[in-house]
Amino acid sequence: MAVVSSITPPEKVSFFEDPATGLEAIVVLHSTALGPAAGGCRFWSYADRNHATTDAMRLAAGMTYKNALAGLPFGGGKAVILRPAGDFDRTVLFEAFGKAVDSLGGSYITAEDVGTLVSDMQAIRKVTRHVAGLPTEGPSAGGDPSPWTALGVFLSMRHAAERRLGGRLAGKTVAIQGVGNVGMELCHLLHQDGANLVVADGSAERAAKAAHLYGAMVVSPDELLSADVDIVAPCALGAVLDERSIAGIKAKVVCGGANNQLATPEDGRRLAARDILYAPDYLVNAGGIINVVAEHMNESTAAVDERVRRIPERLAAVFDAAEKTGEGPNFVADAMARAIVADARGATRSAA
Ligand code: NAD
Repeated sequence: MAVVSSITPPEKVSFFEDPATGLEAIVVLHSTALGPAAGGCRFWSYADRNHATTDAMRLAAGMTYKNALAGLPFGGGKAVILRPAGDFDRTVLFEAFGKAVDSLGGSYITAEDVGTLVSDMQAIRKVTRHVAGLPTEGPSAGGDPSPWTALGVFLSMRHAAERRLGGRLAGKTVAIQGVGNVGMELCHLLHQDGANLVVADGSAERAAKAAHLYGAMVVSPDELLSADVDIVAPCALGAVLDERSIAGIKAKVVCGGANNQLATPEDGRRLAARDILYAPDYLVNAGGIINVVAEHMNESTAAVDERVRRIPERLAAVFDAAEKTGEGPNFVADAMARAIVADARGATRSAA
């Protein structure tokens, strides 16, 4: 998700502490205008509680935008658990977090995020039903959201390539920054479609795997964004698109799965000024949350597939409006998401 241009205050911020298990967590409900707040749980070592709270607030606001633009009947929220400094029992810690989620009475639905595992969600599920990202079988939605995220990014990239590069992805060269869960699956889809790949990863092993499986050329992480390619796909860290890196980009399209790719909203304008088409991250990487909420609503994989395949339509609408107004696509996407939330608030008020 992009750094939103004006973050409205959250509806509710809850702090949870349980010295017996070492739990220290913050749950932010940014908006429930569209429905219960859905967003993952980050498990990370923070300098202090203030840093953790700031991160949770920023991530929760981003989820409001992401869910609104994905057309989901869910608001935005996020949880952050501060990783205990010493030894701790992971299962017991996540069960304690599950009780915290349960105490919010269904106004927040949690799932995996950076640092959390499917087994953590299973621990949470022992004490609350307000959790997704659990393994499933048969036609029911659920399980690892990454392939759905990668599919949404891939289909969006196809659209952006047709628009800016005038053709299909076959024969185009795509540089992928980070070949983890999302980036590796994106390699798979692009390779199938006939694209050439350039990859970089902090882990040499991961990069070598992409080279072996998909014939990717491996470059160092420092070289990736300025590689001589058609498309760049950030699929690792946030804030990688800043004044300095944007000046070096040779690609004509940026479309990737990482959250918070723009260091500041202004960087969206910098990309536009260099005639680089930027696909707003939280729009194109919504496949994961689409899968998470479908699991929560007991829907099928087919429903997830149908929704993920509609992401490029929304991207086209954002690009059309950006072309008309001359504004960066990130600003257009933010404005569209805000309008959807404002409409829902208006509808709630008039029904009351
Ligand atoms: P992951 O941890 O599986 O993969 C990230 C990869 O990036 C790792 O292989 C890591 O070694 C590599 N990396 C780290 N720093 C790097 C650098 N400087 N240069 C190159 N590679 C580097 O994570 P993931 O689940 O694939 O998620 C990737 C991004 O997509 C994150 O920003 C995440 O927030 C976002 N995202 C993921 C999902 C999902 O469904 N998993 C959904 C939405 C958004």
